[in-house]
Amino acid sequence: MSRFTEHSFANEKALIRVDFNVPLDKTTFEITDDTRIRATLPTINKILNDGGSVILMSHLGRPKGGPEEKYSLKHVLQRLSQLLDKQIQFASDCIGEDAANKAKDLQPGEVLLLENLRFYPEEEKGDKSFAEKLSKYGDVYVNDAFGTAHRAHASTAIVADYFPSDKKFFGLLMEAEVSSAEKVLHKTEKPFVAIIGGAKVSDKILILENLLDKATDIIIGGGMAYTFFKALGGNIGNSLCEEDRLSTAKELLKKAEEKGVCIHLPSDSIIANKFAEDAETSSSPSNNIPDGWMGLDIAEDAQNAFTNVILHSKTILWNGPMGVFEMEKFQNGTKCIAEAVAKATQAGAFSLVGGGDSVAAVNKFNLADKISHVSTGGGALLEFFEGKILPGIAAIK
Ligand code: AMP
Repeated sequence: MSRFTEHSFANEKALIRVDFNVPLDKTTFEITDDTRIRATLPTINKILNDGGSVILMSHLGRPKGGPEEKYSLKHVLQRLSQLLDKQIQFASDCIGEDAANKAKDLQPGEVLLLENLRFYPEEEKGDKSFAEKLSKYGDVYVNDAFGTAHRAHASTAIVADYFPSDKKFFGLLMEAEVSSAEKVLHKTEKPFVAIIGGAKVSDKILILENLLDKATDIIIGGGMAYTFFKALGGNIGNSLCEEDRLSTAKELLKKAEEKGVCIHLPSDSIIANKFAEDAETSSSPSNNIPDGWMGLDIAEDAQNAFTNVILHSKTILWNGPMGVFEMEKFQNGTKCIAEAVAKATQAGAFSLVGGGDSVAAVNKFNLADKISHVSTGGGALLEFFEGKILPGIAAIK
């Protein structure tokens, strides 16, 4: 049992930082994907069932420092009310008398949602007096927003300073995220394979470097693989390439060799004559792509080789697609990897998938429930695996 599950929140007001940063339809402001709201329901329900009340605070989008209709959290009220099956109170300003009074009058079983925290620039600045004002609403503080755990914002980290250590908790979602990430990074059962894909080497260099000290194997796929092939002297046609990262890629391969980490690059690629769904396609060795063509997915030999590595692993981390999986013609590589991760999990491996695109991919292929943990954190998960201390975690631990 965790501290959160052991604690009874009866007659307590819980100030919960949630991540209700959900996508909204541009004209109707209807929620187009409510995954993030659903993910935090167990935490809210546990507190309400204990006989506590709940004050929810979140950001939505990137307002420019003041109220903006399109970023109002009132747009999530109706859906939240449906999902919790109760009326939700709303404070149209997260700071001030109205919010304070509504929080003060809150009765056990009741829920209050505060307006977007980022309507105040103080939120992102981590302003102490702003955090202190928020802290006054609750008897206890619960952080259930893993997606913003890498930010030292007022509501994600600073506010925790105003609660004693026995009055601050990770919520159930946050707890699952942190324990899964720690299991992969610190309590690793070997062999450990990290599958890193996506567009850019520059976005993933820090995670790759940190994983060199942890992983048995690193699979590199997606657009970023071609910078490695170019660095090794290959012809990559019009494939994605970061010219200013060629030496970084070379160094990384050298370090991996020194540390005994096996780097797997895709030996062959599905190539296309343009970046489009109706492109002509063919396959080719990834280090010899004809001029005018570009690699947009991993091909059969690479799929088989990667599958083999994955099926022999006990711990699997996956961040970033193997190709342009949004287009049907270039989705097979990513699909094949998702299937291999699911199969390895079924055979007893622990798998963690994170980052918007890889999560979208496992959802697209209906494999999310066959993965040990699908993370809600993009940037936060990356920073965790880069070896950084996340302020939202540190504030509670
Ligand atoms: P990232 O945000 O860096 O994880 O990159 C994800 C994006 O990389 C997705 O939108 C993919 O379509 C794209 N991507 C993956 N493989 C390739 C490739 N070979 N060429 C161009 N884009 C790619």
